[in-house]
Amino acid sequence: MIELAGVTKAYPGGVTAVRSVDLAVEYGELVAIVGPSGSGKSTMLHLIGTLDRPTHGSVRIDGHDVATLTDRQLSALRAGRIGFVFQQFHLAPGRTAIANVADGLLYSGVRRKEREWRAEAALVRVGLGDRLTHRPHQLSGGERQRVAIARAVAGDPAVLLADEPTGNLDSVSGAGVVELLRELNEAGTTVLVITHDHEIAGSLPRQVPMRDGQVV
Ligand code: ADP
Ligand code: ADP
Repeated sequence: MIELAGVTKAYPGGVTAVRSVDLAVEYGELVAIVGPSGSGKSTMLHLIGTLDRPTHGSVRIDGHDVATLTDRQLSALRAGRIGFVFQQFHLAPGRTAIANVADGLLYSGVRRKEREWRAEAALVRVGLGDRLTHRPHQLSGGERQRVAIARAVAGDPAVLLADEPTGNLDSVSGAGVVELLRELNEAGTTVLVITHDHEIAGSLPRQVPMRDGQVV
C-alpha cells in the first residue's frame, strides 16, 4: 500500500532530513517508526501522508505515484484514504467532541446529518460514546487523543498515520491509545505510528528504526 524507493528529502537551507530510504508497507500492517528526535521520523510521515513531496526518489500510495498527481488530486487522496493523528491533539476548544469529529468530514461531500451520525459512531468506536457533548477542556488527555483518533477514522481511511500520539500522555493513557490503535488495525486499517519510545515500538508487530535520516 505504501512504497518508498530511494527517497530523499532536503529542506531549503540544507538539512537532509531523510536520505535514500526504501520502505514497503503492506495493507493491514501495524508499523512503528522509531528513533531519536531529529532522526527524520516526522518528515517520513509527511512524505507518506503526501503532505510533502520528496526531493529525490518515488513515493507510491495505494498504487498512485505521488509525483504524477496534482496538489488537488493529492488532497482528494488524503481526504479519502489517509487519517492523521498528532502529538498535539489539534481539537477546536469551543466545540463538543461530536462537533470536532463531524468537522473532519466537512469536505467529504457527506451531508450534515450523516456527518453527525458517522461522528457519533467513530466516538463510540474509540470508547467515548458517553462523552459526545463534552468539550476538550472537560476531557482528560487520553480522551482528547481518542477524540482526535475518532476524527481521523470517521472517514474510514485505509491508513492511519500517527505522529507521537502518546507524546503528551501519561503512560497509562498512552498505553490505552496504543491499544486503541491496535484494535483499529485489527479491524482492517493499516497503521503507522511514530514514537521515540522503544517500549511502545517493541510492543508492535513491526519496527522501522531510523537514525540520521536513514532506516537502519
Ligand atoms: P523527528 O521526527 O525524528 O524528530 P524530523 O523529521 O522532524 O525528525 O526532523 C529531521 C531533521 O530535519 C531535523 O534536523 C530537523 O531539524 C529538520 N527539519 C524538520 N522539518 C524541517 C523544516 N520544515 N525545515 C527545515 N528543517 C527541518
Ligand atoms: P485520566 O484518567 O486520563 O487521568 P482525569 O483524571 O483527568 O483523566 O479525568 C477523569 C475523568 O474526569 C475523565 O473521564 C474526564 O472526562 C473527567 N474530567 C476531567 N477533567 C474535567 C473537567 N475539567 N470537567 C469535567 N470533567 C472532567
